Amino acid sequence: MADDHVRVTGVPTGLFIGGQWRAASGGATFAVRDPSTGEVLAEVADATPEDGTAALDAAAAAQESWAATPPRTRSDILRRAFDLALEHEDDLAALMTLEMGKPLAESRGEVTYGAEFLRWFSEEAVRIHGDYRTNPEGTGRGIVLRRPVGPVYAITPWNFPLAMATRKIGPALAAGCTVVLKPAELTPLTTLFLVELFRRAGLPDGVLNVVPALDAKGLSAPILADRRLRKLTFTGSTPVGSALLKQAADTVLKTSMELGGNAPLLVFDDADLDQAVEAAMQAKFRNVGEACTAANRFFVQEGIADAFTAALTAKVDAFRIGRGTEDGTTMGPLIDDRAVDKAAALVDDAVQRGARLVTGGERVDRPGTFYAPTVLDDVQPGSDILTTEIFGPVVSITRFATEEEGIRLANDTEYGLVAYAFTGDFRRGQRLAERLETGMLGLNTGVVSNAAFPFGGVKSSGLGREGSHEGIEEYLESVYVLTP
Ligand code: NAD
Repeated sequence: MADDHVRVTGVPTGLFIGGQWRAASGGATFAVRDPSTGEVLAEVADATPEDGTAALDAAAAAQESWAATPPRTRSDILRRAFDLALEHEDDLAALMTLEMGKPLAESRGEVTYGAEFLRWFSEEAVRIHGDYRTNPEGTGRGIVLRRPVGPVYAITPWNFPLAMATRKIGPALAAGCTVVLKPAELTPLTTLFLVELFRRAGLPDGVLNVVPALDAKGLSAPILADRRLRKLTFTGSTPVGSALLKQAADTVLKTSMELGGNAPLLVFDDADLDQAVEAAMQAKFRNVGEACTAANRFFVQEGIADAFTAALTAKVDAFRIGRGTEDGTTMGPLIDDRAVDKAAALVDDAVQRGARLVTGGERVDRPGTFYAPTVLDDVQPGSDILTTEIFGPVVSITRFATEEEGIRLANDTEYGLVAYAFTGDFRRGQRLAERLETGMLGLNTGVVSNAAFPFGGVKSSGLGREGSHEGIEEYLESVYVLTP
């Protein structure tokens, strides 16, 4: 082992295909690093395209029997996986913090949030119902069946390595679909451990397969071209989602896309200042700002702007930066150098175009990939930061005068995943719900994610929903039987 290798033992680092952990067929591995130190945590098997096909072989072979498995049995396995995830909360959280960087308390929060999709969908598994209908002419009677779509290919990002996987595995398994999962190459360890928990929960061989790989495109192309595959579910950036949709068109593959965001956060003069600041901190800084739901563009009404900016800046200056494993750390590193370069470039561009740097605005001088939490005020139209997903700890504030102007600014983006708004006026809240172009709205709250609600976006933020009963629909199809 090289000198920069550290611990992480007892966690699977192979491919999981047909119920077996194994090496990649080419024998290759790739390194997973700790972003707070740059040290190598583990070497993980690097799946070849042949391994990808073998995983799909296993999923296709298991599909019929999994679909025929009684819903209660599928439900019980999901529930056992939920219990095991909570029993191993500390292990999962530690892995997440090591490979992704966020403080341990936040990683524990992701375990609770992510595991909930397993419990939620264990409960949905036994409530998949068709119906009986008559036609308006009175001449036909029909039974509508709900059937699993078939084998699923799931691709997940690095920013929530547990929750993005459970949001897909939960509903797919509940519906009776088998799965091939490709975790992000930067954070495969948490996902591999989760898959091991499914094995321990008694999931039959072939129902869930996992193929980490450095060459995501090379691995994915043959899987996507294979007509045995019936569904693609992707969470990641909009450009990659768009490229995958083009590939999916060739086989008319059913797809769900959870893509990028550019969330507006509106603060109106009549907002409760303390509540707005507290919630804005969560909406912006959860996961070091590396969340699709992160507030990207703050629009603050003129009458409250000075007080809001001052109160927010005081909280931002109180962050304690460090390794996520250290006591007292409230902000960890960004995922890699590219992420730091991107945040720095966006801040520099905004300042050059006339924004006022209130705090931060620099890299942190220590090993690892850290960027100081930053507040920019008076960000000017035309700044890159208003059109780009920041994915870092940077607040961009623009002031506005009227509700009409606030709504116009909020909607001025190709994205539409989530919006946040703070107001004491209930009628204004209703108007915002009807007029903001978004899949989700946090009204006087900074966190919208919850397994019981349909998570997803409009415009370039995606297609389909995850969570709630809508989430399982993505893995089902309707078949009707008509009789006279
Ligand atoms: P990414 O698009 O670079 O990668 C996502 C996944 O796709 C990774 O597993 C990657 O290996 C794989 N991938 C990359 N190119 C591929 C290709 N050509 N073919 C097949 N697979 C490919 O995104 P990322 O940097 O990992 O994640 C950050 C992005 O994800 C942000 O844009 C964020 O907003 C988005 N995201 C969205 C949601 C949501 O629910 N809407 C949730 C989390 C993250």
